[in-house]
Amino acid sequence: MNAPSTPIAFIDLLAQRRRLGDRIDRAVMGAVDAGQWIMGPQVVEFERRLAAFGRAEHALSCANGTDALALPLMAWEIGAGQAVFCPSFTFTATAEAVCWTGATPVFVDILPETYNLDAGALERAVQAILAEGRLKPAAVIAVDLFGQPADYPALAETCARHGLKLVADSAQGFGCTLGGEHPLHWADVTTTSFFPAKPLGCYGDGGAVLTDDARLAELIDSIRVHGKAIASDAVAASFAHEAKYLNTRVGMNSRLDTLQAAILLEKLDIFPDDMLSRNAAADRYAAGLEGVSKPAVIAGGVSTWAQYTVEVDGRDEAVRRLKSLGVPTAVYYPVPLHQQVAYADCPVPGGLPVTEAKASRVLSLPISADLEPDVQDYVIQSVCQVTADLRGSAPSSLTAARSGAAVG
Ligand SMILES: *Cc1c(COP(=O)(O)O)cnc(C)c1O
Repeated sequence: MNAPSTPIAFIDLLAQRRRLGDRIDRAVMGAVDAGQWIMGPQVVEFERRLAAFGRAEHALSCANGTDALALPLMAWEIGAGQAVFCPSFTFTATAEAVCWTGATPVFVDILPETYNLDAGALERAVQAILAEGRLKPAAVIAVDLFGQPADYPALAETCARHGLKLVADSAQGFGCTLGGEHPLHWADVTTTSFFPAKPLGCYGDGGAVLTDDARLAELIDSIRVHGKAIASDAVAASFAHEAKYLNTRVGMNSRLDTLQAAILLEKLDIFPDDMLSRNAAADRYAAGLEGVSKPAVIAGGVSTWAQYTVEVDGRDEAVRRLKSLGVPTAVYYPVPLHQQVAYADCPVPGGLPVTEAKASRVLSLPISADLEPDVQDYVIQSVCQVTADLRGSAPSSLTAARSGAAVG
């Protein structure tokens, strides 16, 4: 088993850059030369196309995926004394945006098969917060972890029962579907991130909020530009100057750069094909891997495979051995949020046994639309070998590889 001649990338972003070629160069230089670097026509066009792709009435771009979470919470005036329920097994930003508003994240356990919010645990957590009476339940942020949709029908039912807003944090899962529907079919808003390593990434920071709620979209448009006056602000009609100099609410500065929108317009074109390639890579992993527990997708769900995450005994030793074989891996997430200093005071009604069990076992393998089959085969064989060595026996796939199957 020989390692590929060039180092394996965990996510090969430069391969996609090469594949897109001078389309990106033309888009970037076009935006540079046109001189409308803030909220230029590419931003407007990208929002139109993003809304169409996500089957949303409105798409509002912003500076990053964390702001995308904060914007609807701010528009709903969620704040001190209110509880926002979210998983602890997620990237920091999910809970961070809640804290910015003054509201309290309440951590809820996940399902062991999908790593996504457990609707039963959510119901119990809401009941516990209501019984305690200190915080008023306001919203739920479900995360499409590793690319697959959360159980939106069940979560939306719980939200409807308690009058809670439902946010789909689809930073990793943007483009995922459940029964053919996007998360917005059930959620009040979908948020996403265009951080380069996300399935739909730009060449810097970016984010977006999608919603069917016209009033919410208008408020978010105001908040992302310093609380500028919007059509429904009655006083705006008689203001003879630029709307951004009439401030009816406290907002922030959170816009997507025109340059990034120009890049994203090109990337959105190839996104559906990229998702097929990522799904093909996931299928190839599922067929070839042995000695690890492989990811399961919710029934009827289509994942964007932001990550291909397996579970393995002796995870940290496996990471070291794979590294020595030239296979980069990542651990999402080694420490769940409720065990982080920053969130140590946040309630965890009922505890988080599944979350805590997963953190020591998960291991994410290289995946991208540009993952070459021979490179992937090397990764597969390396994982099979390392896990077999850790168990003290020889894997059958290695025998198959030696007898003629593709070897990197
Ligand atoms: C990346 C990510 C975010 C935040 O996105 P940024 O653009 O980095 O601010 C939020 N939630 C989840 C689940 C993420 O993975």
